[in-house]
Amino acid sequence: MERCDNGGGRKSSSPQGIITVVGTGPGAVDHITPAVMACIAAADVVIGYSTYLDLLADQLAGKRIISSAMMQEVARCNSAFDLAEAGNRVVMVSGGDPGIYAMAGLLFEIAAERNSSIAIEVLPGIAAINSCAARLGAPLMHDFAAVSLSDLLTPWETIERRLHAAASADFVIALYNPKSKKRTEQITRARDIILQYRLASTPVGIVRGATRADEHILVTDLENMLAAEITMQTTIIIGNSCTYSWRGKMVTPRGYSDKYALQKACDEG
Ligand code: SAH
Repeated sequence: MERCDNGGGRKSSSPQGIITVVGTGPGAVDHITPAVMACIAAADVVIGYSTYLDLLADQLAGKRIISSAMMQEVARCNSAFDLAEAGNRVVMVSGGDPGIYAMAGLLFEIAAERNSSIAIEVLPGIAAINSCAARLGAPLMHDFAAVSLSDLLTPWETIERRLHAAASADFVIALYNPKSKKRTEQITRARDIILQYRLASTPVGIVRGATRADEHILVTDLENMLAAEITMQTTIIIGNSCTYSWRGKMVTPRGYSDKYALQKACDEG
């Protein structure tokens, strides 16, 4: 089992604390790893975006909580360092995996900026790409690329260039941050780019709120995907040229059928 080096349950007596950035998975508490749960249990302070902390209300009872709205990431990281320097075991909570479009990178950047010697530990979580792929069947059986459509921190030209590259190289493409209340056009432009390389009948999986109470799963195609409700809680997985849908699931073949007779192999297995 992964070691949580976050004080081992004892009150920190060292002058220096530690920051552990943990991933809490897609939403449901039973999708949080035991290592992350143990780390949260041993924390002095838990910091995170309020939506993720709300999902953890039971686990946080009795702890010092610093919850903040989105777009305060830099302030949140600086508070983590201030508190760790005061000797606290600080846990920063990210949804999904903390190293995928989340807080781990910014923590290291700020550590370098502050020339900090505080230990930073990263504990993985189940990323949206994992939970959403699982709900859809087996869409990621071959090479894939993840592209975030958020142009808040990345120039749109860069995003377009990556979409062209991934689509032309026949990667399965997972689109993160496809749409928000303010950003509504990016998903249409992304689809137009992908349609330059893929058939309109290419399967597309759309998963909203994976593992949460409002989870919604749809397998459609490039032609019809824009008719679906797409929000900030949605991840979209676009098949490659070999992906097909079967009984409501999305399947990207790995190539076994070119090499083996599948029926015979199954009978013998
Ligand atoms: N660190 C997170 C990603 C944060 S970016 C991870 O590893 O999953 C936020 C984006 O993640 C959302 O816009 C959405 O595209 C995706 N996402 C997060 N949770 C999701 C869920 N439960 N179901 C579907 N997509 C989700």
